[in-house]
Parts: sequence; structure tokens; C-alpha cells
Amino acid sequence: MYTITTEQSFDSAHFLAGYVGKCRNLHGHRWRVAVEVASEQLEREGQLRGMIIDFKQLKEDLSRIVDFYDHALILEQGSLKESTVAALEEEGFRLIPVPFRPTAENFSRYFYEEMKKLSYPVIRVTVYETPNNCATYSETPAADFTTVTMAGNSAADCE
Ligand SMILES: [Zn+2]
Repeated sequence: MYTITTEQSFDSAHFLAGYVGKCRNLHGHRWRVAVEVASEQLEREGQLRGMIIDFKQLKEDLSRIVDFYDHALILEQGSLKESTVAALEEEGFRLIPVPFRPTAENFSRYFYEEMKKLSYPVIRVTVYETPNNCATYSETPAADFTTVTMAGNSAADCE
């Protein structure tokens, strides 16, 4: 199987409502999003001969999806009082409400699904919240994932 990976990043603030610990406070990250697509075969003809897909297109599509979240406050819907949201908006801050707790895990699934919607043969999306902490979403059953990891794959390296 062939795989290619592309990565984009965005800088944004978030907080984890209901979390006991420092992540409940407003703070920022450089979120890095790595998307891996796979194929058993390569294109045989034309411009994409010898490739899975057009890397440039993949990069552009991921960049467009990810850039939307750049320089914003990402917040779970309903996690701030309406008056607080109104006050922040009045100040001109860019808020992006999301229907999930804005964790690296949830973002990895979100970006996975966004790339799938564009028909990419995506197999894995990893979101780094810090250089040392990341979360990965894939549709590989957990048992298989463990086997792969034990076989020496570096799937869990980013912890
Ligand atoms: Zn955080």
C-alpha cells in the first residue's frame, strides 16, 4: 500500500468547558493537522502517473479547510453565556462555535470527515495540539491498530 501525508497548521484559542485543570482556561495552540491518504495502486497514465493523487490539490484542499479555523476562538456551542459571546463579538473577536468539545481527538475526526467528503482516500488524520501531544482518528478497528503498533509502526510515537 502507498500512502502520502500532508500537513497544515493553524493558530487558535480554545478552552475545555467542564474540565478540571488548566485546560479550562482560555489558551492557544498551533494546531498541526496531518492527513494521510492511501492507495494500493498508483495512477498509470497522464499527469498523475506514478502518484496516488495530486499532492498539490490535497495540500490546497486541506489548507482551505484548516485556514477557516486560523486566528479565532474555537468554542463548544453553549459553553459560554450568551452575554459573554455577545460581548466578545461586539469587540470584533472572531468566534467559531463547534458542536463538539474542541479537543485534538474531536478535531482529528472532524478533519478526517471533511477530507472524506472531498472523496480523498484518507486513512488517518492526526492533530497535534502541542509538539508532543497529538490525537489520531482512523477507521481501523482498535485491535488492528494495536497489531500495527506492536509490529513496530510508530503510530503511538506522538504521545
Ligand atoms: Zn488546549
